[in-house]
Amino acid sequence: MTTVQAPRSGAAKSGVETFDSLDPATDEVVGTYPVHTAEDVEAAVARAREAARWWDSLGFEGRAERLRRWKGIVARRLSELCDVVSKETGKPTGDAQLEAVLAIEHIAWAAKHARKVLGRQRRSPGLLLSNQAATVEYQPLGVVGVIGPWNYPVFTPLGSISYALAAGNAVVFKPSEYTPGVGKWLVDAFAEAVPEQPVLQLVTGYGATGAALTKSGVDKIAFTGSTATGKKIMAAAAETLTPVVIEAGGKDPVLVDADADLDAAAEATVWGAFSNSGQTCVGVERVYVHERVYDEFVAKVVERAGTVRAGTGEGAHYGPMTMPAQLDVVRRHIADALARGGRALVGGADAVGDRYVEPTVLVDVPEDSLAVREETFGPTVTIAKVRDMDEAVAKANDSCYGLGSTVFAKRRGMELARRLRTGQTAINAPLSFAGIASLPFGGVGDSGFGRIHGPEGLREFARAKAIARQRFTAPLALTTFARTKKTEEMVTKLIRRLHGRS
Ligand code: NAD
Repeated sequence: MTTVQAPRSGAAKSGVETFDSLDPATDEVVGTYPVHTAEDVEAAVARAREAARWWDSLGFEGRAERLRRWKGIVARRLSELCDVVSKETGKPTGDAQLEAVLAIEHIAWAAKHARKVLGRQRRSPGLLLSNQAATVEYQPLGVVGVIGPWNYPVFTPLGSISYALAAGNAVVFKPSEYTPGVGKWLVDAFAEAVPEQPVLQLVTGYGATGAALTKSGVDKIAFTGSTATGKKIMAAAAETLTPVVIEAGGKDPVLVDADADLDAAAEATVWGAFSNSGQTCVGVERVYVHERVYDEFVAKVVERAGTVRAGTGEGAHYGPMTMPAQLDVVRRHIADALARGGRALVGGADAVGDRYVEPTVLVDVPEDSLAVREETFGPTVTIAKVRDMDEAVAKANDSCYGLGSTVFAKRRGMELARRLRTGQTAINAPLSFAGIASLPFGGVGDSGFGRIHGPEGLREFARAKAIARQRFTAPLALTTFARTKKTEEMVTKLIRRLHGRS
């Protein structure tokens, strides 16, 4: 039996500590990277401060032009990027392409819309202060630290990086220790498009490097990863009142109503649960199905799941578990479900190998079991029968997580979607919200807070600057010790007329 390795530490001849990035399918070393220390991180942030001033001075158009250049490089060398992603995560290159393509769309959207969303806007000053001109504009924060995970090493960090850059910030990026090569590729491509200043820098290493970035005095931390790490980051950031965006884990439900297109729902469930080996923050983990269509839906899922294969090369639908420690979590969740009366209709206890996990479909699993309550992050799914869609909504919402969700229904799709306590919901298609660049993306509860993507994502990396400019002297002088009784009486009359009638 082979044992899957975590990234390996080492020491280069220069005395700089290093670690190896491994191909999770073979344990082959695919790259060696420095473990950056707190001093290295501080130096990067100091360089970023300088770069941020220059980047801000370019204005929206100057930045948009350079972001378009970067996007062009990524698009032209897409297959090269996909190879790096595939090597470090084990995912098929087609899946790597999907995340990269969506990420390119986000760079394009952020570049195109930053001026409209963040540029100066006039606001009404109101009647009492009608002598003022009121404006608001969204200014860059300065330097943003982005800490990323490994599961979507292009799409996920770029969801923060593209918007932070378009808003006028410099970025110091710490990718996951499992995917440093992808991080380096993205940062090198940016440096080709923007050679003048280190506007986007890379720091590599383990959690300690991320912790150093959190404490380095950056103006915001954008974190994507597990809820447990998100809590640590928020606690550390509290010491310096550094604001944070937390994009954390999920336990995403699918609701299938009695009038749903069952083939489409089964297809979405199978793809949403098993693609990328189930290592998707908005992957399908639980399904609640109306009792009238439960048996038919389960049969369709089982039939499709039986054709899905884990492995590498031609014919494999998804690759190995990228992070070895996750194998134990998946094994524990399946064992707990089966021990508590659940049944595996596909896969089961033996589905978890030493590298790959075969698709597993679980039914009759109690709602308080691990497989229903905790993020499994593997290619497993639980399917439960519900009396009606009210029960489905109640069960779906009975979770500490609230990231994504999906509804399959004809008549009540919109109503059910609005009642789900999640940051985003797709109706009649899987995960569609993630690819629509104009829609905000983020969590509720243990899934985190703050929003990336769309106008909300741009504003997340900017501060509102309000300016009130006096255009002429007010007829009613209120903010002076020279204020007269007569003025006060006029204000009383005016305010009664304006607000006193209701
Ligand atoms: P993780 O929390 O283990 O690591 C994420 C990053 O945090 C890594 O770069 C890691 O080095 C760094 N880190 C670890 N300890 C740190 C510390 N104390 N201070 C600062 N940084 C630290 O997560 P992971 O295993 O890489 O990613 C999987 C998780 O990410 C899953 O829970 C998944 O649901 C979640 N995820 C969420 C989203 C989203 O948008 N909400 C997207 C993708 C993944």
